[in-house]
Amino acid sequence: MASQQEPVSPMPGVPAMEGKMYLPPTPLDDDVLRITKIETVIPDDLFPGLMLLRIHTDAGIIGHGESYYLAHGMAAIVHDWMARRLIGHDALAIESHWRFLYERCANFGVRGAELRALSAIDLALWDILGQVCNKPIYRLLGGPVRDRVPVYNSCGNPAYGPNPHGNLGWPGYGSLGDPGPLGDSYNLFHHPLELADDLLSEGYTAIKTWPFDRIAHKHGGMQISLDDLEEAVAPLRKIREHVGNKLEIMVDGHGFFMLPAALRIAEALREVQPLWLEDILKTDNLHTLKDFRQQSRMPISISEMLLTRADFAQVLAEQAADFVMIDPTWVGGISETARLAHLAQAYNVPATMHDCTGPLTLFAGLHVNAAVPGCCFQETVRAQIRTIYKFLIDREVVIKNGFAELPRDPGLGVRLNPELFNGDRKTYRATAE
Ligand SMILES: [Mg+2]
Repeated sequence: MASQQEPVSPMPGVPAMEGKMYLPPTPLDDDVLRITKIETVIPDDLFPGLMLLRIHTDAGIIGHGESYYLAHGMAAIVHDWMARRLIGHDALAIESHWRFLYERCANFGVRGAELRALSAIDLALWDILGQVCNKPIYRLLGGPVRDRVPVYNSCGNPAYGPNPHGNLGWPGYGSLGDPGPLGDSYNLFHHPLELADDLLSEGYTAIKTWPFDRIAHKHGGMQISLDDLEEAVAPLRKIREHVGNKLEIMVDGHGFFMLPAALRIAEALREVQPLWLEDILKTDNLHTLKDFRQQSRMPISISEMLLTRADFAQVLAEQAADFVMIDPTWVGGISETARLAHLAQAYNVPATMHDCTGPLTLFAGLHVNAAVPGCCFQETVRAQIRTIYKFLIDREVVIKNGFAELPRDPGLGVRLNPELFNGDRKTYRATAE
């Protein structure tokens, strides 16, 4: 593919603007790292829905990124569209590329696969910048503000949602999972006390669960009976009675419920004193979210389902949330995640980082957690870290005593498994100069 430095207008007499807007002046041409190639691969045998991305530069530095859901759509956006902006251009002009691509997507709605593709690119560009500076990204964001990051264990399974056994799953629509030592979702219902003891023995101080999903699948979230409530709340009550205050408990509703059922759930959970209720309601109506917080008088987390500053700014201004939950590879990458975390701090609302969605998402969240004082937690899923993530990246996230260690190597501090990019996979795509 030819360099797009000097785009040619397809219409005589009409100047070609694309590729020039927001491109910074480059007076020191020798300092510019030019993007030479973008690769993507979808490891659907390992983690269906995940798109892995690498950006190459003429200096030989490779940046790594990823995003999750509708991976083939994201790869098409990267290669067929966004690459036109990036190939041949300055790899370190992160904000310039972000703003240009964001605004082009904003012309048809911003959200969705476009923003996730942009998130993957943003991670890779920050990874390149970190390697150029020989510093971890959190230092380039102004950190560290803490020497380790508080985490909680989300009680999923190695194959929550999509899994490599042929079940592609649906977003936020996982099954109870299978028994086993890392079957945390299954064990919540069948062995809650053993699960709590096991997590405490590993040093965790907080857990997140989604005990209402099965009920939502039955009734579509319109209603919840008292019997169903009891089935879902009972394991949490047992854990609270068993461990006392040693574990914080968060509850995720995955956005399944309508207002009356959500209020019933909130009231039933009051006895276990959750640290937050997350997405009990769908996040598509700000007025109802605000109403739910006011009526329930429970701490509310909103939501990795929201994207961009514009969404979160409304939630914060309307006082609809006690915590904001951000997915770095959905919301617009490390750039937008850091901006959002700072925005939330202006409202004295703590920011927390989402995972379940891929190993680089976790590392991106750790960097922002390490750099923004108002961040309070990084979500982790031990069932993924100890299984599927090992095939995707070159190191393991180290968690001790309820904290993750900072990724101290340059850039993201982690590399995607290079064997995934050797071109053998049918899902591999590359766009180069
Ligand atoms: Mg959630």
